Amino acid sequence: MRTLKWEPMFDPEEETSTAIAWISFPALPPNFFVKEVVFSLAASVGKPLQVDLATRNQTRPSCARVKVEVNLLRDFPKRINVGLRRQSGEISEKWIKIKYDYMPKYCKNCKIQGHNKHECYVIHPELYPKDKMEDDENEKRGVQKEMELANPRTEEHKENKETEEFKD
Ligand SMILES: [Zn+2]
Repeated sequence: MRTLKWEPMFDPEEETSTAIAWISFPALPPNFFVKEVVFSLAASVGKPLQVDLATRNQTRPSCARVKVEVNLLRDFPKRINVGLRRQSGEISEKWIKIKYDYMPKYCKNCKIQGHNKHECYVIHPELYPKDKMEDDENEKRGVQKEMELANPRTEEHKENKETEEFKD
């Protein structure tokens, strides 16, 4: 049974934790190389959306790649245990490794995508790069310079007017 996600309110300050990720299964056994099987494996990470072209055409037997819709708030497994039934009837464990090719970062603290909690300047202010601080300072100075420049221009304009007046 599946429960539907219910989002009662949309807060524009908060970014959704839903994102698109690409995962792959390196060294996938050939008998797993079917879209349905790849999808059922990918379901342990998120909602499978599509397999890439090489997987669909089976032109890259070494690795199957899938696009999944994920909730960045959850933890992701590094491998999946699949039971394999042997000819004798007994079931043996088989671990399928998951590789995360592309996974967007999400900060649970700021509730935005783009960085994770380990890179968060709010949680770790000491991580804020020094040269970026200088950039910010320069930016402020730059605004001041522009304001200073604005005045001479008006003065120049006034001067011209005065000369015109003088001509008359
Ligand atoms: Zn953050």
